[in-house]
Order: sequence, then C-alpha cells, then structure tokens
Amino acid sequence: MTTTPDLDTPDLDTPGLIPPDVNSVDADSLYTVGDDIADTKAPNVPIDRRWEERKFKAKLVNPANRRKLSIIIVGTGLAGGSAAATLGEAGYQVESFCYQDSPRRAHSIAAQGGINAAKNYRNDGDSTYRLFYDTVKGGDFRARESNVYRLAEVSANIIDQCVAQGVPFAREYGGLLDNRSFGGVQVSRTFYARGQTGQQLLIGAYQALERQIAAGTVTMHTRHEMLELIIVDGRARGIVARDMTTGEIETHFADAVVLASGGYGNVFFLSTNAMGCNVTATWRAHRKGALFGNPCYTQIHPTCIPVSGDYQSKLTLMSESLRNDGRIWVPKSGEDKRDARQIPEEERDYYLERIYPAFGNLVPRDIASRAAKNVCDEGRGVGPGGLGVYLDFADAIQRLGRKAVEAKYGNLFDMYAQITGENPYETPMRIYPAVHYTMGGLWVDYDLESSIPGLFVAGEANFSDHGANRLGASALMQGLADGYFVLPYTIANYLADGPYPKVDATHPAAVQAVEAVKDRIDTLLSLNGSRTVDSFHKELGHIMWDYCGMERSDEGLRKAITRIRELRKEFWSDVRVLGTNEELNQALERAGRVADFIELGELMCIDALVRRESCGGHFRAESQTEDGEALRHDDEFAFVSAWEWGGDGGKPVLHKEQLVYEYVEMKQRSYK
Ligand SMILES: Cc1cc2nc3c(=O)[nH]c(=O)nc-3n(C[C@H](O)[C@H](O)[C@H](O)COP(=O)(O)OP(=O)(O)OC[C@H]3O[C@@H](n4cnc5c(N)ncnc54)[C@H](O)[C@@H]3O)c2cc1C
Repeated sequence: MTTTPDLDTPDLDTPGLIPPDVNSVDADSLYTVGDDIADTKAPNVPIDRRWEERKFKAKLVNPANRRKLSIIIVGTGLAGGSAAATLGEAGYQVESFCYQDSPRRAHSIAAQGGINAAKNYRNDGDSTYRLFYDTVKGGDFRARESNVYRLAEVSANIIDQCVAQGVPFAREYGGLLDNRSFGGVQVSRTFYARGQTGQQLLIGAYQALERQIAAGTVTMHTRHEMLELIIVDGRARGIVARDMTTGEIETHFADAVVLASGGYGNVFFLSTNAMGCNVTATWRAHRKGALFGNPCYTQIHPTCIPVSGDYQSKLTLMSESLRNDGRIWVPKSGEDKRDARQIPEEERDYYLERIYPAFGNLVPRDIASRAAKNVCDEGRGVGPGGLGVYLDFADAIQRLGRKAVEAKYGNLFDMYAQITGENPYETPMRIYPAVHYTMGGLWVDYDLESSIPGLFVAGEANFSDHGANRLGASALMQGLADGYFVLPYTIANYLADGPYPKVDATHPAAVQAVEAVKDRIDTLLSLNGSRTVDSFHKELGHIMWDYCGMERSDEGLRKAITRIRELRKEFWSDVRVLGTNEELNQALERAGRVADFIELGELMCIDALVRRESCGGHFRAESQTEDGEALRHDDEFAFVSAWEWGGDGGKPVLHKEQLVYEYVEMKQRSYK
C-alpha cells in the first residue's frame, strides 16, 4: 500500500464522483453518514462519582508485570511529558519521541498566561461544579459532560503536583499562591508564573521525565518524527519514525501507543503556534482508522500582535492575562486617525465593556475576537491596514503604579516592545485576533482511547474537553490532567490484558508502513517542481483564514474546498523539495507536514460546511441572532462530528456522537 495520493484516482478527475467544483453540489454529497457512536467507558453513576468509579473498576497491573509492558508516547509537551514521566515512574517501559532536540522545547513552553484549577483560594464562589459549568458553557455546549467534569475534578491535584515539583507559581505577599482571572469566568482561578507559566510547568514535567530517563524506565528519542502508525490485528502496536538528522527510517513497537503531538493551528500558516507544530502524527493515525473529532473547531485568540507584512511567518500572542488590567477600545469614529493618547475618553468606544457589561474585557475568546473583527469591519480598526484594536494599560498604571504592572506583565511588555518598537507603558498595545488553538483532534472516549484499540490521545491532540471554544488557561490544565492523572489509570486498564503478541519489523503491517513512508519521501524528493513548500503552505493558510477562519459561510466554504483540491493536485505535481533524505532536511520535513495539512484543510472545510450553525469559535454567517451573536441549533447539531477517513479518492464518513446534557442546562450563551 502506498500513502502517496494517487492523482489519477477519480476523486479529482472523474466528473460525477466528487466534482472539483463543489458549488453546484449539495453539501451532503461531499461525505457520507455512518452509524452514530457513543462513549461507552464513562460509568453510569452520578457525574461526581464517575471518575472514582472508573478508577475503581479499572483493571490494575501489578508492579512486577509493568516491567514487561511497553508504551510509545509521541510528544513531550505537557501532555506527553507528564504521561511519560508518570508511566515511567509506575514501572512501564516507555519510549518517548519528539521532533525537537530536547523534550523541553515542546511548544507547551510558549504558554504564557496561566493554568486553571478549582481551588477556590480567593473564596469567591469557585468549585469543581463551577469550573465544570464554565467550561461546558464556554465551549458552547458542544463538549462531553463526563470528561469536562473529570477535568474540573482533577484540576486541584495538578497544582499540588506542580508545587511539589517546585514550579514557581506567583505568590501573594503573604506567601500564598496568587490567582488571576481569564475570559469567560467571574472567579479568579488561574495560577500563573509571571508570563511564563507553560515554561515553568514544562520544566516541572521535564525534570520528572529526565529522572525516569536516568532511571532507565523511559528511553528518549529526540529529533525523531513519527510518520506512520503501525496497526496489528486491529490494535495500535507501533510507529514508523524518521531520524531527522540521518534520515534513517525506523520502526518502534509497544503494547500501546499514545499520541500527545499537540494542535494543528499551523494549517492556517500564520498562527501563534511554534513553527514546527503540525498534524502529521494524528493525521496519519486518522488515515489508519482513528476518527477525527470536530476538525473545524479552531480558536482565534483576540489578543495577538497584528500581522505586519507579507513576509511574516509567525504571529505572537499577547497573553489573555493582559485583559485583567488592560482595557480594549477603538475610536468612536472611523475617521479619527489621531494618536491614541490624543483621543479623549468620550471619543473612545470601550466596546466590550459597552456590549458585555457583566464580563467586560473578560468575555471568552470567541466573543472578544468576533467583536474586534466587527469593529474593524466597520472601519474603526487602528494601525496599518485598520486591522487592530487598542489594549490600553493607562488606567491600570494609574491605579496600581507602573512597578506593579511591570511585576505582573513585564516580560510580555518587553516582548511587545521588541517586536513592534512601541512602548506599551506609554502608548496602548495594538492587538488583533489570530489562530491560536484547535479544539478539534482525534476522537477519544472517556479513557482517552481513540477508535483504534490501544491508541490513546492526550492534550491538544485530542478533541475531548473544550467543545466549540476553549476557555483561557484550560489547555495546560487539560494536558497535565491527561498525562498525570487520567492516562496512568486508563492505560493500565488496557495493558492489564497484555502483553500483546510480540511484533517486529518483519511483520507485514510494519513492512507496509515503512514502504509507505519511503514511497512518500521518494515522491516528494523526485517531483522537482517549481514551487516551494512554503508557497503552498502560505496559500493554504490564506484559503483557510479567508473561508474557514473567524467567520464561515456556505458559499465561502465551497470555494475553499474547490481551491484546496486544486492546491493538493498542484502540490503533488509541482512542489520542489531540495536536498536528500539522508541529511537534516527541513524542506523535506515541511513538505510532509504541508501535504497532511492540505488534506486536513479539506476535511475542516467539509466539517464546517456540514455544521450549519454558529457555536463558539465556529461562526456561520447564516446563523446569527438579531444582534449578531452566535446562534446554535441544538435540535440539529448537538453532536460531536467524528470523521472516518474515506480513503484516497473516497468521501469522508461522518459519525455523530450525540451530546446529552444532564447536569448543565443548554442555553443560548450570554455574557451581557
Ligand atoms: C503562544 C501560546 C500561549 C499559550 N498560553 C496558554 C496559557 O497561558 N494557558 C493555557 O492553558 N494554554 C495556553 N496555550 C495553549 C497550550 O500551550 C497548548 O495547548 C498546550 O501546551 C499543548 O500541549 P501538548 O502537550 O498537547 O502539545 P505540545 O506542547 O505542542 O507538544 C507536542 C509534542 O509532540 C511532539 N510531536 C508532534 N508531532 C510529532 C511527530 N510527528 N513525531 C514526533 N513528535 C511529534 C513535539 O515534538 C512535542 O514534543 C498557549 C498556546 C500558545 C500558542
């Protein structure tokens, strides 16, 4: 079997099957509908007892047997790093993979603002139920209740674990851990380490991981990129990885495989994600049968430094924590081109405080992003091109003093000054929404097991907890919950039936997977076309941003699907990848990733087209309330879309997981 798309297959060329121009076809003819699916692992007991019950009923593996069982973990960010450290410490043989030169360079290191936990240290009414409620509501009622409740439940343990590791969370004068607020909530539950929370948490996980590496329970493979999943007798049993420095194609086998490979926001080319973030690990698993959940749910973060030109390849986040003290505004009149400081108070529109008085500048990200887009669309945006709004600290500096502001946000202000050349202590920051996070990912059940037995998925790579919109500071919480507290139980339950029959590189499934990888690499290197990989990536990004970004419409999504199909064809006939396989070859690495992004982009647009409602970060122009807010259609769309790969040239198959809300009442969201 080859995984290189066969360009002569009928999907692209034969009219009638899936026409290249999809404008004339009914959305339904782009996909087929399969059977409904359901999570069968969450016990049928009251929600506050489900996790306890699941842990109690889960099978155990005795310590002596753990040494005989092996687990591959792809990813060393907060999800993969914490899982590898914990499972290693439990005594399993763990093989850990990352494409960076060190596990602690995983993208989690970039996280700035904080991590949520229902500790109620501020005595302001927080509780497990409130964190659960806020997350379900913030996700616009498109997340699974059981998983979200468990996330809220284990959140407090994460803070204790990290404090025990020495993570230097910010403290109040008296020595107690400090908290701040993030969007979509009315309590202070966000723990932080200045603007470097991800880095400090990752150092905690990393040192725990290094300890296990030294102890011999974890074997670390840096600079290795997983390019295929190996499935034997219906179970995930290994991976094919490329040594990125020598080009050697290797096989690795285990009793279970965990993907903790992060999110796919870089499908948009420009995003706040690290340049290396990609979808390959999960996409390759998807092509092998793992269902992909809600691919179109993308988070657009409202506070990023605006795009400054055509040659830019990366966007920078200004942490949401800044919205605790910064006030967002634009001039009341689009004609007003004065310097921000010269615009008097009464001629400013603090539009979030005006439209959403209950939450003000701390509305959830999807709402803040759309509001920024709306004022810019009205012609009131600021800065070059009019794609920006002000984030102003003048009030905070006056109220708290510059020193206090510096202590809380100093590194973020420095970063802003270095990138823009402007001093945010003296003039307001300019911000604009940008792609930041993907709520979609591989579908998993309550055990975080995908639709392929033995394949578990953790962190941003799975779809599980955030519905159609993630609340700020909840990704770090989820990654660490998955790695430290959930997988160690659920994988043990799976491994208790192991060890599974031994597999090695001579197994036909392994041989086939290796051949597919080699084939694809050879094809990429031999095409010798005229366009760079980046030019394809950039074009895909434009299509995705224009048609599957902050606002989507039926017409736009059809255009996007047509164009992405053409782009895919052009890519496989005209891409130019220089160099060879047997060396460090970043063009080759990127080519493989962009090829997968192109396929994913098409599925994202189909998913968005099918969902004819607005929910969370997914705003369908055709589905809005009279005052322009997102309008859900719970009667038709209260489900998770779990897509099955339809094969090269085939149509993807939609399986629906119906969402049932027993503990939170589904309502139209309001932050007014
Ligand atoms: C700028 C920024 C700031 C953020 N701030 C916050 C915040 O304050 N609070 C919050 O809660 N969230 C925040 N987030 C989101 C959060 O950082 C991420 O969602 C989270 O860190 C993802 O962790 P992860 O472990 O799932 O994946 P990652 O940290 O992305 O790690 C992925 C790992 O997988 C490996 N990998 C991927 N593909 C392969 C492959 N094919 N082969 C081998 N290895 C592979 C990588 O090498 C890496 O080790 C922020 C995100 C950004 C972009």
